[in-house]
Amino acid sequence: MKVYISGKFYDKADAKISVYDHGLLYGDGVFEGIRCYSGKVFKLDEHLDRLYDGARHIHLEIPLSKQAFAEAIHETLRINGLKDAYIRAVVTRGIGTLGLDPRKCGKPEVIIITDSIQLYSPETYEKGLELATVATIRNHPAALDPRIKSLNYLNNILARIEATLCGCEEALMLNHKGEVAECSGDNIFIVKQGVLKTPPPDAGILKGITRGVVIDLARQAGIPVQEVPLTRHDIYAADECFLTGTAAEIIAVSKVDGRVIGSGKQGPITKLLHQRFHELTRQ
Ligand code: PMP
Repeated sequence: MKVYISGKFYDKADAKISVYDHGLLYGDGVFEGIRCYSGKVFKLDEHLDRLYDGARHIHLEIPLSKQAFAEAIHETLRINGLKDAYIRAVVTRGIGTLGLDPRKCGKPEVIIITDSIQLYSPETYEKGLELATVATIRNHPAALDPRIKSLNYLNNILARIEATLCGCEEALMLNHKGEVAECSGDNIFIVKQGVLKTPPPDAGILKGITRGVVIDLARQAGIPVQEVPLTRHDIYAADECFLTGTAAEIIAVSKVDGRVIGSGKQGPITKLLHQRFHELTRQ
């Protein structure tokens, strides 16, 4: 597998960046996780928009136009002969000194890694995941806005560690107001009396691309959608609950903090949206 680093391709074993890169030293940079289905990169414009918006927020100038970035992604897929793939696009601050000052860094590094995708088993999609609400809250938006998909994922990693220590597969993270935010690597939805509900972007979440697709698919199917603040009560009392993300797509939630959600397995609206998502991506 060849890896793209700032305009050149390297074998996986030789794909290296400097230990002075602030992406490593400080988590200073942004990234995207993207999917390619049957040779077509899914929602590439949306992913690039989010990457470039995050970069602007952290005052990082990506040394490529969006079009050139898209071409580099397609070229990496082509060189690796991949049609169905997971793509990781990373932009680091670049090589600097041991001090924080980003102005001392040279050119940002652009990295594109492509790989085959590891999925949950089909049984897991039907059975659903078990979540635990964790004590680590999602980053306060005034400290580090969760809308930036930054290279600093410690907030999410701490949450995931807590969930794992509780014997759960994913962490339910609350925001600084105690409302439901999202999971460590996925957005969350519930269904209550036929209405699909999910926290709004200003609840302190990453505005997931899959989240947006699911909202569109639900509206097309005539399912009312509300972007509203949710509490743990809403989750416990939901008829259905599921998570969305580029890697997981749409995955049911069976239990949260030991409470069985709805029927305790993939519910009818989750199933319908999962099918519609498959039709969209595997057409
Ligand atoms: N929230 C977080 C914290 C994430 O890291 C991700 C991406 N893995 C998501 C939500 C889902 O976003 P997307 O649908 O764009 O993959």
